[in-house]
Amino acid sequence: MSFASRRVGVMGGTFDPIHHGHLVAASEVAAKFALDEVVFVPTGRPWQKHAREVTHPEHRYLMTVIATASNPRFTVSRVDIDRPGETYTIDTLRDLREVYGEGTELFFITGADALAQIITWKDVDELFSLAHFVGVTRPGHELSGAGIPTAGLSLLQIPALAISSTDCRERVEDDLPVWYLVPDGVVQYIAKHELYRSEHG
Ligand code: ATP
Ligand code: MG
Repeated sequence: MSFASRRVGVMGGTFDPIHHGHLVAASEVAAKFALDEVVFVPTGRPWQKHAREVTHPEHRYLMTVIATASNPRFTVSRVDIDRPGETYTIDTLRDLREVYGEGTELFFITGADALAQIITWKDVDELFSLAHFVGVTRPGHELSGAGIPTAGLSLLQIPALAISSTDCRERVEDDLPVWYLVPDGVVQYIAKHELYRSEHG
């Protein structure tokens, strides 16, 4: 039965905004791990990011929908933004297990920076029992397995795209273009809703 199981990647993120680094990472993992689908899961209230005000979840959700709409294998889930309270990966994976059912293998896709915090995550053993973890490279963050359980974890080199949401927000604030860093529809959505205009107060 395992040969017939559905393989679903899970790309969690704040997506404030979603950019081509996220999309290339998802696409590469999908190709390398023969995934049937990648579900993008915008966070509710991310516990790692209390330092700054995160954009309203509905804006982040809609930008994620716009960015992924043209790819038949990409979908978006509201499980994190509809769950009250802070977002923990364990809850994301438990909810997605419910949504997708027994016949699905989950692959949680995460950058080296997020992976480095894995030991601060709750219930690390259950995390690894719910999904296979795929750590992707990202410019400025070295991948290393140090301190991280290696069973159930794969590391994957992806083409370096030195794009971050932080940089995109700062560029909008500074009146610099974000064309080609984020999908066209996301450029237009940011302008339409005047997002990121007063990031520095
Ligand atoms: P911020 O600058 O606000 O932290 P971000 O660009 O890091 O935003 P997140 O939403 O925090 O974006 O990232 C979600 C996931 O995507 C994380 O696992 C992160 O490591 C990964 N990621 C982000 N940017 C890239 C990139 N350019 N290449 C590969 N992975 C990336
Ligand atoms: Mg980040």
